[in-house]
Parts: sequence; C-alpha cells; structure tokens
Amino acid sequence: MTSPDLTALHPRLPSPAQESADERFTRRGVRLLLKRDDLIHPELIGNKWRKLAPNLAAAAGRTVVTFGGAYSNHLRATAAAGRLLGLRTVGVVRGQELADRPLNPSLARCAADGMRLHFVDRSTYRRKTEPQTLAAVLRAADAEGAYVVPEGGSNALAVRGCRALGEELRGRADVVAVACGTGGTMAGLAAGLGPGQRALGVPVLKGGFLADDIRELQAEAFGGPRGDWRLDERFHFGGYARTTPELDAFAEDFEARHGMAVERLYVAKLLYGLVALAEEGAFPPGSTVAAVVTGSPWPAAAAHSASR
Ligand SMILES: *Cc1c(COP(=O)(O)O)cnc(C)c1O
Repeated sequence: MTSPDLTALHPRLPSPAQESADERFTRRGVRLLLKRDDLIHPELIGNKWRKLAPNLAAAAGRTVVTFGGAYSNHLRATAAAGRLLGLRTVGVVRGQELADRPLNPSLARCAADGMRLHFVDRSTYRRKTEPQTLAAVLRAADAEGAYVVPEGGSNALAVRGCRALGEELRGRADVVAVACGTGGTMAGLAAGLGPGQRALGVPVLKGGFLADDIRELQAEAFGGPRGDWRLDERFHFGGYARTTPELDAFAEDFEARHGMAVERLYVAKLLYGLVALAEEGAFPPGSTVAAVVTGSPWPAAAAHSASR
C-alpha cells in the first residue's frame, strides 16, 4: 500500500486572498479580504481539501470510511478524492430509510464517484464514535481494517492541516472569520494565526456546544489551547441548512455585488454575520477583516457564475 500522490491534483495553495470593495465595510474604514479557499480544488473544495489531504495520506491506500448526512459536503469531497486518487471509499449515511429511496443528487454523486454507501438508522449513527458501535458498523459495511475519518472530517490530522490556513493569513488581517460546523477548521485556523490576530467563528448549527468541541479538538491536535478565538452564536438562522428570506436575499445581493457564488449552508451565514458586526461597529476603523470562503454552492450555481 502506498500513499496517494496528492500533489498530482494540483491544489491552488496558498489560496488567493482578494481585496473586496464593499461599502458596508469601507464606510467604516474597514478592509474586507475574501480568502478564497473555494478555489483550492474544483472537487476537493475549500476546507475539505485542508482536512482530507493529511487523512488521505495517512490512509496509505487503505479503504477510507467516513460518515455524513444525506447532503454532506464532506461525503462528496471524500467520494471525489476516492475517484481522483484511485482509493476505495465507503460512506456511512445517516438514515436507514434512505436505503429504500432513489438516491438524492448528493448521494448519487457520491455513488457515481465510486463511493459504496452504507445506510444506518439514526440511533446507531448517533453512537458511531462508541468503539463497539463503530466496530459493528464497520463489520456490517464490510469495511473492517479500513481507515476511519470521522463525520465532517475533523480529527487531529485535519485540525493540523487547517493550521496552514491561519499561516497563509499571518500579517494579512486583524480578524479572520470562518463559518463553523464541527469546528475543526476553526481549531486549526486559530492555531496558525500570528500574534495579535484574532479568529472569529460563526456556528451554523444551533446548540452552544461548539466552543467545548473546539477546545477538545485543539487538545487532541496540539496538546492544549492555541490562538485567540471566539464564537458569535447569533447567525445560525435556526440551525443547519435552515434559511430565511432575509438570508437568501442577502446572499443573492452579495453575489451581485462581488460576482462570486455564495455557498448557502455556511458561507452565506458567515458573510451575513460579518456585515451585521461591521454595522454594529465591532471592527475598529483601519482594521482588516478576512472572511474565509470555505466552499462553493453545490450543485454549481451555473446561472450565477455564468451570467456574472
Ligand atoms: C464542511 C464545511 C464547513 C465546516 O467546517 P468545520 O471544520 O466542520 O467547522 C464550512 N464551510 C463549508 C463550505 C463546508 O463545506
């Protein structure tokens, strides 16, 4: 078994940091940078590249098993990596009932990329990190001995992979903001920033557990807390994949202003939060705020990107 050659995929690293004129920031004397992690790779997009790359190397050719919901960006990225690198992948999907229905477009994409899908009921899925449950799931999925990547891809290797995101922004911004799901990207980003720089996380899930999770991920990855970070829990819009007409309108307007397709599950909430914070005067005049664009819409927003 040999390690896959990830450099053959030609990731665009460091990702570009684009200065963006947006009067909601400039009128307060604040510079907005868009850190375009969405441009790292067309299929292993954004933070999914940063988190998966070290895990794919560690898998060293073994089958990769991972976990996700019916529309998981992480499952699609893992499946695409499998196709591009010639690795076998197994996706453990939340929801036994999905096994009897036609695949939704996201899971159909995974299957087309060669991912073998294994559906489990929700209570098993919830307990998937318990060793006995995990062992039983791997056995049932015929994937014993496989390399296991957790849901969302956030393990210690992934968190250390995301440190490079912070390092690429050293000396470039006072505040670096990122949308958070599992918090793995935030945990690594904060560790990579330089002295005097702050990381700001915008959770897209409702719950309030994320700060503990990030501390835990930093302890696993680095042996203790790293960097200066905090979360602003006000911008989840009701929870994962929830939206409002106001958020949709905001995202469409941002696309029109900046000619960039805005991913709706994470990036729209981040950008909305940053505009709200700028309007509250949270960023002092003369400061620079970098927004990490962690992904792009799926399926690709052809109408948006083609017409602008
Ligand atoms: C997966 C994902 C995130 C969340 O990353 P975490 O490390 O789980 O916090 C953010 N943005 C996009 C576009 C994603 O696909």
